[in-house]
Amino acid sequence: MPDTPHAADDGPQSDPGSPAGLPGRARAAVFFDRDGVINESPGEGYVLSPDDFTLRPGAAQAVAAARAAGRLTVLVTNQRCVGLGLLSGRGLESIHRKMQLELEAAAGVPIDVVYACTADDDDHPERKPHPGMALRAAREHGIDLASSWMIGDQDKDIRFARAAGLAGVIRVASGKPRQLSADAEVQDMHQAAAELAARLLRR
Ligand SMILES: [Mg+2]
Repeated sequence: MPDTPHAADDGPQSDPGSPAGLPGRARAAVFFDRDGVINESPGEGYVLSPDDFTLRPGAAQAVAAARAAGRLTVLVTNQRCVGLGLLSGRGLESIHRKMQLELEAAAGVPIDVVYACTADDDDHPERKPHPGMALRAAREHGIDLASSWMIGDQDKDIRFARAAGLAGVIRVASGKPRQLSADAEVQDMHQAAAELAARLLRR
C-alpha cells in the first residue's frame, strides 16, 4: 500500500549489544534523519535511485559513534515520493541497501533499524513532524525515548524529537530554512559525530 509507512528493514541487522550500564533496561537510541544527514540533501526533489544517493562525509562516523556508545541506531525518514508514485517500495529498498553498504564501507557500521514513512499526507501520524515512527520504534525495539537523541537538518526533525520526548536533538546545516533551535547546531556531519559522542558520554 503506497500510503502506508513501512519498515524497509524491520529489525536490527546485527545486535549492537546492550547499552553499557543499563542491563535489562530499555535501551537508548539515536534517531537519524536521512536526506541532508546521512546523505547529501536532494534539495527540493527526491532521491529516486541509488545513483542519486551520496553519503554525506562524516555520516558514517556519526552512526559509528552512536553504536560505540551502545545506542541502537534508527533511521526515520519521510519519503512521500513513494506515496506520490514517483518511486516504488522496492526502489526505496534498493536505495537503503546502497546506504547500508556505504555506511559499512566507510566506518564498518550500518544502521540497525530503518523506518520510512511513505505517506503523502501531512496528517499521517508516522509522517514527521508527528512522532509516530519514534513511538513505533520504542514499541518494537524497547527504546527509552527520554534518553535517546536525534540528528536532523530541518525544523520538522526538531518538532519530531520534541513530540517524541527525546533527550535532545542535534541539527546539522544543510541549507534548509530554520526557525526552531536545536540543542546543538553543527555545520557538518563530522561535527555532528563529535557532538553526539560528547553528549552520549555525558550521560
Ligand atoms: Mg532531512
